Amino acid sequence: MEGGPTNNLISKLGSQGTLSRFELISLIDSLDESVHQHLRRTAHRVRVSMYGNSVYVRGLIEFSNICKQNCLYCGLRSGNKQLSRYRLSLQEIIKCCDEGYRLGYRTFVLQSGEDAWYTTDRLAELIRCIKHSYPDTAVTLSIGERSDECYARLYEAGADRFLLRHETASRALYDALHPTMQFEQRRERLQALQSIGYQIGAGFMVGLPGQTSADLAQDLLYVQELQPDMIGIGPFLPHEATPLRDQPPGTVERTLDMIALARLLVPQALIPATTAMGTAHPQGRELALLAGANVVMPNLSPMSVRDKYMLYNNKICTGDESAQCRFCLERRIEAVGLYMDMGRGDSLKYLDRSGQPSAPLIP
Ligand code: SAH
Ligand code: SF4
Repeated sequence: MEGGPTNNLISKLGSQGTLSRFELISLIDSLDESVHQHLRRTAHRVRVSMYGNSVYVRGLIEFSNICKQNCLYCGLRSGNKQLSRYRLSLQEIIKCCDEGYRLGYRTFVLQSGEDAWYTTDRLAELIRCIKHSYPDTAVTLSIGERSDECYARLYEAGADRFLLRHETASRALYDALHPTMQFEQRRERLQALQSIGYQIGAGFMVGLPGQTSADLAQDLLYVQELQPDMIGIGPFLPHEATPLRDQPPGTVERTLDMIALARLLVPQALIPATTAMGTAHPQGRELALLAGANVVMPNLSPMSVRDKYMLYNNKICTGDESAQCRFCLERRIEAVGLYMDMGRGDSLKYLDRSGQPSAPLIP
């Protein structure tokens, strides 16, 4: 049977939840049309057994595009002098949360470049304000690398979760792409966040220039070892004002494979259907939701700054109102037979460790 040995590896992974590094590399190398469906269906089954048919929603507020780092792939890198920079005030961010709350969101993701204007004090004040107005919401930070003390104080102020992708688990690739950052330090930061008590999100890009199957296997094994609450996986997409402008983008197929494998290796994780997937393919997010993903992150940033938070070329939803994004995603989710869950959407791992019952599954 075509794809026989590969299908066997997928079934083994589906039932045992793990493979050796060697098996994983050979599985990644042999994934083709004949086995994609089997892999994605297996991952979808596991996702349904964990989280039912619900898709959790996070309102994303891109509050500053100012960044001191210089990651080669990113449009916000400090070396990009063509970008018009902005920073939202605390009041503007709170206004976004007000609108998000009215739209039904119960998680806000505050994302930015590494912008030192937002000191620990300012961020703590912002978090306290949001939590005071909306105690039934979760606040997620995605603001890059900070000190232990800063992370601890923001947690005390009420932040619940932190997204810090490891970007790539290959040291050589990481070093080549991050002239201002260090491989070991990124991992230490993730561990620091985890030990403080945050629900943490790691993750990686697929299709980075020079990335091999062995590198991707390394990414998957790293997340299995770290056991994060969330795993963000998206295709690398070039940005015209970066040194990687002429590199080919990561493919939708490869990214879907990685999402499905991540679901099988870390079944309890929350996995977003990323905006980068929606940019790479008109139905990219829906495909991801049927291949193991179970979270979407509609944009809640003010219209005036949307086109300035340009991580990569052609980013979608830059011209849509927040309400449009919410209802557009709801339609897309329902069109593939899933439903939008407006709760906080904590990870199963977190509910386990905090002794709370998980929500009943609706098949
Ligand atoms: N500064 C923070 C958060 C903002 S960047 C941080 O770096 O953690 C958020 C994510 O966007 C990054 O983790 C990276 O994985 C992704 N990203 C940046 N440039 C990209 C590109 N060109 N293609 C795909 N994803 C990209
Ligand atoms: Fe800055 Fe994050 Fe972009 Fe790197 S990926 S340049 S840290 S915004």
